[in-house]
Amino acid sequence: MEKLVLKNINKNYGSVVAVDDLSLSIEEGEFITLLGPSGCGKTTTLRMIGGLEDPDSGQIFIEGQDVTKLPAHQRPTNMVFQSYALFPHLTVFSNVTFGLKNLKVPIEEQQERASRMLDLVGLNGLEERRPNELSGGQQQRVALVRALINEPAVLLLDEPLGALDAKLRKAMRFELKRIQHESGVSFVFVTHDQEEAISLSDRIVLMDLGKVQQDDSPRGIFESPANQFVADFVGVGNSIEGECTEASKDSTHIKWGEGNITKLPKVTGVKAGSPANMWIRASDVRIGSAVGKNEDSWQGTIKELLYYGDQVDLVIGVAESDELRSIITADQFYEENIVIGDPVKIAWNSDRVKVFSE
Ligand code: ADP
Ligand code: MG
Repeated sequence: MEKLVLKNINKNYGSVVAVDDLSLSIEEGEFITLLGPSGCGKTTTLRMIGGLEDPDSGQIFIEGQDVTKLPAHQRPTNMVFQSYALFPHLTVFSNVTFGLKNLKVPIEEQQERASRMLDLVGLNGLEERRPNELSGGQQQRVALVRALINEPAVLLLDEPLGALDAKLRKAMRFELKRIQHESGVSFVFVTHDQEEAISLSDRIVLMDLGKVQQDDSPRGIFESPANQFVADFVGVGNSIEGECTEASKDSTHIKWGEGNITKLPKVTGVKAGSPANMWIRASDVRIGSAVGKNEDSWQGTIKELLYYGDQVDLVIGVAESDELRSIITADQFYEENIVIGDPVKIAWNSDRVKVFSE
């Protein structure tokens, strides 16, 4: 049975459409991420699941039960916030067992469960500390334990790593995954960070303007973006203005730059003479020795480069006005001794090119 189902949820604030006819469902033990730019409706969606906000219309089911009208404290959900929201005057133990105490769980069981959960996140021995005696990462772990200890059906996490510095933020990803695997709880995670979403999630719900743009696996989102918005939001890509010069039964030719032609497998809905904009991921743009002798290729000039240690991000000028981004390995960069101003051959696999109709 699905753990959580949202059916045609709508929420407006005055004239602002925060969430627009959103439907989704989450399986047991799934890690799903609501991803999208600031203001796209992620927090509003999460708060409606948790009962902190009422939808204008639509229904929410948790473990088959319609909870749309239930207050927050009666729902089998817990929320983890970016700001941790720990009680500053309470110890780690009292913070973590706060909910259990309210439920009148016997003290021995509170201790046993707290000890098991604190073990899980490597915080055993810190039970008597107060939040201000912990690092940011430790505080975040306490917040996680507090939210997981009473075994919610669904854990809601709103940008939970947002207050941590970049390095800790990355390290906490593994921690989160491990905790989620070991607890078996379904996670609904909110972030605006596409890399975080791609690396953590079983499934990503990518939103814009309150609407779902694509609901897919990280691989599906990355390799088969459903539209221009998704393509531009995830990773580094190139949008190339072009025009269809030939549309036959099994191929579509697109002219771009100053007379370059890319031959693609048949793109439906694109007619000869009509504009056809291509999109290709920067890591799919091959250059130099990675271009085969007999494949279609084009000429460009290295204009700018950023070195990332393992990869190099290149800006390549093609014709007067077009620029392409290409991401290559640092190995290739050094082997070919690439410098700004070099002429360079460019190619890509035609099956990696997307043509978006709108
Ligand atoms: P996100 O979490 O994706 O950044 P939110 O869900 O917080 O986005 O907000 C979605 C939209 O709803 C935004 O335009 C935001 O300004 C608006 N909004 C959110 N909460 C309120 C509120 N309490 N009152 C008025 N507008 C709100
Ligand atoms: Mg938000």
